[in-house]
Parts: sequence; C-alpha cells; structure tokens
Amino acid sequence: MSGGWSAILTYHSLDDSGSVISTPPSQFQRQMEFLASSGIPVLPLDQALDCPGSVAITFDDGFRNILDEALPALERHRFPATIFVVSGYCGRRNNWPGQGAGTPSLPWMSWPELAGLPALISVGAHTATHPNLMLLPASECEREMSECQTRIEQSLGRPVRWLAYPYGASSPEVRSLAGQHFDLAVGTVLRFLPAQWNPLDLPRIDTYYFRGWLSLERLFTRPGGLYLGARRLLREARSSVRRWRGPAPEYGV
Ligand SMILES: [Zn+2]
Repeated sequence: MSGGWSAILTYHSLDDSGSVISTPPSQFQRQMEFLASSGIPVLPLDQALDCPGSVAITFDDGFRNILDEALPALERHRFPATIFVVSGYCGRRNNWPGQGAGTPSLPWMSWPELAGLPALISVGAHTATHPNLMLLPASECEREMSECQTRIEQSLGRPVRWLAYPYGASSPEVRSLAGQHFDLAVGTVLRFLPAQWNPLDLPRIDTYYFRGWLSLERLFTRPGGLYLGARRLLREARSSVRRWRGPAPEYGV
C-alpha cells in the first residue's frame, strides 16, 4: 500500500489528442469506476490532507471538456473535485504565450459555466495569466494571485482559498506571498502526501504518469509506490538539467 498517505491527482484536459495535458475520457471513466469500487475515500482537497489513504481530484486550467467528460461521472459517484482556473482566460482558449508545443488549443469554461457548477466542485485560483511566478518581481507575482482570487470571488460569489502554481513553479518567496492570500497551494512534486506537509507546497500526482506501466490501480500497490518514487527522482534530475539550460518545463510533466 501507499503507506497510508493521500494522493492529490492532477488532470488538465479530457480529450483523445494524446498531448501531455490530455487524459482520454474513457480512461478517466475507468479511473473513477476504480475509485468507486476500491473504497478509497475521495475527498475535497482540505479534507484529504487530514485523512490518510484518501484521494483528492484536481483539474488545472478550466477546460470546458470537463463539463461533458468529467462532471457526469463525478456527480454519479458523488466525488468532490477542485478546478483551478486562470481568470484572464475564462471563456477563451489556452493560447497564452509560452504554451507548450503539441498542446491542443481548446475552449475553457466561461464564467456562467463556472457559476453553474454543482456544489461538490470547488473553484481555486491558477493566477490571472498563467505565468511562471518564480520569474516575476514580487509585486507582479502578488498581483497575479490576488487579481485571480478577487475575480473568481466576485464572479462566483464563493470564497477562493486554494491556489495551484502554474507549471508547479514556486520558491520560498512565491510561497510566502501565496500564504498572504490562500490557505492551501498545490504544485507538481510527484509524490504522495508525506506525513509532514507544507500547506503551501502540496505535492500532486499528475495523471500523465498513468500512461505506461503505472496506472491508478497500481499506484496504491507497493510496486506502484516504488515506481512513482523512481519517476520522481528521474524527473528531478531532468528538471535540474533544464534549470541549468533554460526555462521551466510546461505543466511539470
Ligand atoms: Zn496550468
């Protein structure tokens, strides 16, 4: 087993393009069926932190295909989830500068669509324009966070207390600023939630890694946990090389 640790899962788009941000809808359905039959508690993000062995489901960016491809299954199983949205791109497409090559151009949910989400879906902040926060001056970094938070709260009438760092990129300075606005913030460090966790630096398991040998079913086995650890070490080694060579990787995959 996972050692009783919780897993925060990251999805982006549910489509069949095969891109790094895409999960096939049929695979998502199977994963939800597995969770439903496994008895693993699927909880809101904040509750999963206090319940060892649970799962929290998150979606980054706010793709519209979540409405058709994810919402029916989530509602059928009564699974809560969090969608982290980029406020400046709601109702538009994911065509911000620096978008990764091979990433499909897809529509995002509009403000009315976000307002119509059922109560079991939480909406979190993913900044105003999806920059790498580590590359911004502190004032710009804080503006990206607060502008997004305020826009969502004003548009939806719901408090926004959770943040996802674009590209999973954060530093002690960025996390300090995040702590002034949010209770929890998630990144892309590939691991289960450890026994001692930082609420502003929560790890997540990107479902991109469920394409090969590892699957959601295997994640909760001992070999699955060992495999995840090996992939994390490999990823951290590659990330070090990238930092030495140039810009941060897209989507943390
Ligand atoms: Zn993103």
